[in-house]
Amino acid sequence: MVNLVLIGLLVVFCIGYWRFVDIQRWWWQRQYATQVLSAQDKQLLLQYMPIYRNLSAHERAQLERHIVWFLGEKRVLGRDGLKVNRAMAVIVAADACLLVLQQAWPLYPNVKEVLLYPSSYYASQTSTDAAGLVNYHTAIRQGESWPGGTLVLSWHDVLEGNRLPGDGHNLVFHEFAHQLDQQTGSTNGTPALPKEISYQQWGEVLTRAYQRLKTQLAYQMPHTIHSYGATNEAEFFAVVTETFIEKPSQLRREEPELFNLLVQYFRFDPSHWHPSY
Ligand SMILES: [Zn+2]
Repeated sequence: MVNLVLIGLLVVFCIGYWRFVDIQRWWWQRQYATQVLSAQDKQLLLQYMPIYRNLSAHERAQLERHIVWFLGEKRVLGRDGLKVNRAMAVIVAADACLLVLQQAWPLYPNVKEVLLYPSSYYASQTSTDAAGLVNYHTAIRQGESWPGGTLVLSWHDVLEGNRLPGDGHNLVFHEFAHQLDQQTGSTNGTPALPKEISYQQWGEVLTRAYQRLKTQLAYQMPHTIHSYGATNEAEFFAVVTETFIEKPSQLRREEPELFNLLVQYFRFDPSHWHPSY
């Protein structure tokens, strides 16, 4: 009899574990069903997030649902004396959720918290030279994405990224793109891909575009993707994500193969978010 109870409990546990995400989603649907952004929150997005103004009604509704979920599940904390208010948390969540607009909850499953500094901040870092000596120094940073699930952002740069939605720079898009990349366990410019995209195809298309950027820089040719993308493959993916959302028309003209792959990966085409292009 005891054995039967134990087997029963084991079966229930296995089914629960196997269906854990489904059960969690069902719970969230109930929990967040009645929670919506206030009129004040939406006004704030209209004022500070130009891309939000150009989203379709369906996209806006989807983004707002995501923001509610994000604010319920992640912490946004101030550093260096910065007091984070609702408005600041909504803007950070909105930018973060735009990247994963077409994804299902849980969004960024590894992310636990976002730390906001008032502006650029000093971070200590170490490097080891050829002789094996470790050097300690400080570097000025605007943001970081840690594999453990913490993001660090300069609030000043979060606002700047939103103020000019077509310049190809958005700190939140950049750092959260690193989080997408890090979901696989390594930071190498290859996030977890949907089954429609093979890892071989992703590697070939991104490598070609990465090499082209390096050539453009070497010969001082014009380029749409910011030069920082040539740092390494991980930075290339983060910078390309910023370019894709903020300069879609230019990226499609210059790198059509890469642009189409990103449309497939993100499951949206941001072209209509920039009516002036
Ligand atoms: Zn980066």
